[in-house]
Amino acid sequence: VNRCERARRALEAAGIDVALISPGPDLRYLVDYDAVPLERLTCLVLPRSGLSTSPVLVAPALEAPAARASVGDSVDIVTWQETEDPYALTARLCGSPRSVAVDDRMWAQKVLDLRAAMPGVEQVAAGRALRELRMRKDPAEVAALREAGAAIDRVHAEVPALLRPGRTEREVARDIAALILDVGHVHVDFVIVAAGPNGASPHHEPSDRHVLAGEPIVVDIGGTMPSGYCSDSTRMYCIGEPPADFAEYYAVLEAAQTAAVAAVRPGVACEEIDAVARRAIGAAGFGDFFVHRTGHGIGLETHEHPYMVAGNDLALEPGMAFSVEPGIYLPGLHGARIEDIVVCTDSGGAVMNERPRSLCVV
Ligand code: ZN
Ligand code: ZN
Ligand code: ZN
Repeated sequence: VNRCERARRALEAAGIDVALISPGPDLRYLVDYDAVPLERLTCLVLPRSGLSTSPVLVAPALEAPAARASVGDSVDIVTWQETEDPYALTARLCGSPRSVAVDDRMWAQKVLDLRAAMPGVEQVAAGRALRELRMRKDPAEVAALREAGAAIDRVHAEVPALLRPGRTEREVARDIAALILDVGHVHVDFVIVAAGPNGASPHHEPSDRHVLAGEPIVVDIGGTMPSGYCSDSTRMYCIGEPPADFAEYYAVLEAAQTAAVAAVRPGVACEEIDAVARRAIGAAGFGDFFVHRTGHGIGLETHEHPYMVAGNDLALEPGMAFSVEPGIYLPGLHGARIEDIVVCTDSGGAVMNERPRSLCVV
């Protein structure tokens, strides 16, 4: 059964009559159309199963050839001309629903214009229903994540050659961005190069600070492959030997990350993956310095469900893909994170990244 049909069943189960899906990861997932979100309305009208209407893609006339090339014959396309009102058109195609769902990434302007075109119709978020599909990757999606992992591994393999005393974080990051494209990604999603005290800020933006000998360097990088699937991996580097206090907690972090990956298997709650890492770091006295959740789902988006975080009692299932990335951050000194993408399989966690996790001394 194709993804649109499964989504229509999920909508019916969720009590939603129609979903309206604008350009973004849900549209790509459902009909393989990688449209750029622009001001003109492009929108998949997806009725729940049990309704007599069938899915249609509303698209501006000038984008119809591109849309047709992507979706093929899988869904009808209804075009609108520059002077027509696409919101009124979309409302007519919805029939008379009690509730419509909009995708989680739809622009607020479009949400509000759709609301105005369908007065009295309840609007809800489509994400809750669609995540049930997107969270469970099929073999082709797992293969795409494995390909993304291998690509970002090739970038990490080149990082040592870029780290020389006197270069700035920004210079290193620019070289890494070029490598991310060289190895086959079509988009650079982010490049974190955080030297010394900057490493204590988990989402540090590369700056003009120099990388210096004896300072741990956090390198967290990711991009999007032609398949649409994302990579995301963190490794730690140091020019020369790291400080003794760093070496002590890095051993703790490595053990915690290994234990959390080893805990992955069907039936284990997402929050338990977080707890395994947190217990190991807490037992060594660094609990206060592990300031974020252990991981996030990954697929057509770098951050998606399921999240490895306290309070998420969702049980892991085969096909669920997510990062395992505990960190320890000492403000004013330095920080460390180790991150792999892991896919839950019947026999445990399959790791998509194969670079050594030990500190890479350059
Ligand atoms: Zn992050
Ligand atoms: Zn991540
Ligand atoms: Zn990352």
